[in-house]
Amino acid sequence: MQEVPQLQIDDEALEKLIRAGDIARRALEHGRSLIKPGATARAICVEVENYIRSQGAYPAFPCNFSVDHVAAHYTPGTSDDVELSQESVVKLDIGVSVDGYIADTALTVDLSGRHQELLEASREALEAVIKRLKPGISLYEIGKTVESRIRRRGFKVIRNLTGHTIARHMIHAGLSIPNYPDRTVFYKRLQPGTQAAIEPFATNGRGMVVEGGVTNIYAYTGRRPRKGLNDDEKKLLDVIVDRFLTLPFTPRWLVDLMDPQDLEHLVRSLVAKGVLHDYPILVEAGRGLVSQHEHTVVILKDRVLVTTCKDCQG
Ligand code: MN
Ligand code: MN
Repeated sequence: MQEVPQLQIDDEALEKLIRAGDIARRALEHGRSLIKPGATARAICVEVENYIRSQGAYPAFPCNFSVDHVAAHYTPGTSDDVELSQESVVKLDIGVSVDGYIADTALTVDLSGRHQELLEASREALEAVIKRLKPGISLYEIGKTVESRIRRRGFKVIRNLTGHTIARHMIHAGLSIPNYPDRTVFYKRLQPGTQAAIEPFATNGRGMVVEGGVTNIYAYTGRRPRKGLNDDEKKLLDVIVDRFLTLPFTPRWLVDLMDPQDLEHLVRSLVAKGVLHDYPILVEAGRGLVSQHEHTVVILKDRVLVTTCKDCQG
């Protein structure tokens, strides 16, 4: 059996999980209000990340701003940027850490108003799962619920994008939560003491993502370098470990240290040496449009808490 890191959910932990969820919910709503034709991904992400910091928390990963057929893992770089058109379908996905206790939440905005059914598919799937949640719910049942809701509206789930368990300082804690009835997780359940992100993705494409494009999201592997590091690389790695531990980060958060081009060069060389890993941009294989909705849940002994949603009842 796979070892799933459990949270030690005492009163203090619970208070921090709830605070992280509350900040994430407000940051996401703030971000939603800024998504308009002509706005840039960078301006919105910087604003959302600064809002999180202004609340005494930290972004648990860089603001993901994935447009149209990009499903996940785009964040603005130090120089490149995306400008929104009147046709954009935007997935805003953010993470908040309060002392390592994490909330992860996402929504989709359809600027043309022509893709409401697609948005409704992932939104309704998430809502249906939340209604069924109870301590010990099986991952198979979650996946089955997601896929049936999305199919009912005439769309496909993205089979190789999943939800995930979360632990302290760990955005992915080992267990993937499928968006289709996956027989390989038939006996796996969300037991009390587990925190998880539920995140259905719907598409009018092939129902699969592939890697595409140069990423701006990285994380420290926690492993010692295979090859020697030079002094500049060592100094940068020290700052990365100090600021982010093994949580994902983006070079935008390090431009106070040096020239952006030098920074990106050093980051790439740390990837090549196996010290950092990157998160490739994930695009829909059939160039379909993608919608996503996500909430974070905490499974307690007698109930389920949806930390990123005020009106949801688990
Ligand atoms: Mn997310
Ligand atoms: Mn997630």
